Amino acid sequence: MRRGTNLPAVGGYNRSVVLDAVRREAAGLSRTEIAERTGLSPQAVTNVSRRLLDAGLIRESGTVISGPGKPRTMLQLEPGGSFALGVHVDPAVVTYVLLDLHGTVVAHTQTPTPSASRPDEVVGLIARTVDGLVAGSGVDRARLLGIGIAAPGPIDVEDGVVLDPPMLPRWRHVPLRRAIAEATGLPVLLEKDVAAAAVAELWFSDGASRRDFAFVYYGTGFGTGLVIGRDVVRGSSSNAGDSGHVTVASSGRRCTCGRIGCVGELITPHALVRQAVEAGVLTADDLLVDVLDAARSEGDPDDLHRIEEALVALAGKAADGDEGALEILHEAARHLARAVVVVLNLLDLAEVVFGGPFWHVVAPWVLQVLPEAVRSSAALIAKHPIALEQSAIGTDVAAVGAACLVLDHAFSPRPSALLISA
Ligand SMILES: [Zn+2]
Repeated sequence: MRRGTNLPAVGGYNRSVVLDAVRREAAGLSRTEIAERTGLSPQAVTNVSRRLLDAGLIRESGTVISGPGKPRTMLQLEPGGSFALGVHVDPAVVTYVLLDLHGTVVAHTQTPTPSASRPDEVVGLIARTVDGLVAGSGVDRARLLGIGIAAPGPIDVEDGVVLDPPMLPRWRHVPLRRAIAEATGLPVLLEKDVAAAAVAELWFSDGASRRDFAFVYYGTGFGTGLVIGRDVVRGSSSNAGDSGHVTVASSGRRCTCGRIGCVGELITPHALVRQAVEAGVLTADDLLVDVLDAARSEGDPDDLHRIEEALVALAGKAADGDEGALEILHEAARHLARAVVVVLNLLDLAEVVFGGPFWHVVAPWVLQVLPEAVRSSAALIAKHPIALEQSAIGTDVAAVGAACLVLDHAFSPRPSALLISA
């Protein structure tokens, strides 16, 4: 629990301290309890509460009698007092969510990432879709706090620029944060996708779990969000979590880094589809589209959609008991397990959460092999139990996390280069 300060110059900080205290108690808190929990003076709590009530961010929710003295009025969060938008730009699909102050998703949509892969088209599409989502939800636009954008790395968080993600080959130094702020008139922040996913897991956990964990992100790309002591590890340039070049095999296709056996080159949807095509598990007859070309190409969003369809087809064959399909997914699980063990060892973690846009497609078959492969690994150092869990937030996790970042700013303002005002 953060403590407040009674200096008059930091009213904004006190507002967020009170809001944060109130949101953590579903039943609400009395002003006296807020003062006790935050360290603010009773007078400061009274003043801040009045401003929050006037702003419609909290509400009075009846009175309780506890001990001698007059009954206490309880203050509760008003979930519809403000809203945050989250946008996740995956190379294949853009996901949008609208969250209330409780973090509940009140509206959701998805669009394919524009096939031309031109950044200005992506910006226009995001702005139009955001407008449509807000209009369709009935939420008053004046109650929007801002937009959080989760994007593939590497990003320049200071300038809000997407630099040169390997899966978005035509994106080079795209000033996404400023462009979206200008197009929508809303404050915008930018976060790497794997970090945003970790933020979402933190937001919806109770604090007893999810203290130190790795989030294994399985989208068009593969990465690892890291949380230590309930803080997201961002690194010196907010690009922590790239684990795609961890070596997990001694054979296989050469990675873009020039080496053999990188996990990202072996387990991403693109890689699995290519393996399935090469092994004859997937043929053109299985698919309505020419996946053979898609499997050979590099990063065109049209091809990425075909890859997604082909991945679903591969999973369908596994569900039908096709041994070739099962072997490809089980081998991917063994590769992933080796990478997970490296991360577990490095940080002495006891918890790994799996999720991301395409995780649910492969999870049933990967999880037939992965837990045992991790726990029985001769390379695993820790002797404590290892919890391997699936994200409860599902495919929207990075978009939800990006919106939670915006809520975080409302609840805990701190000096940050993340946010830009339009
Ligand atoms: Zn590599």
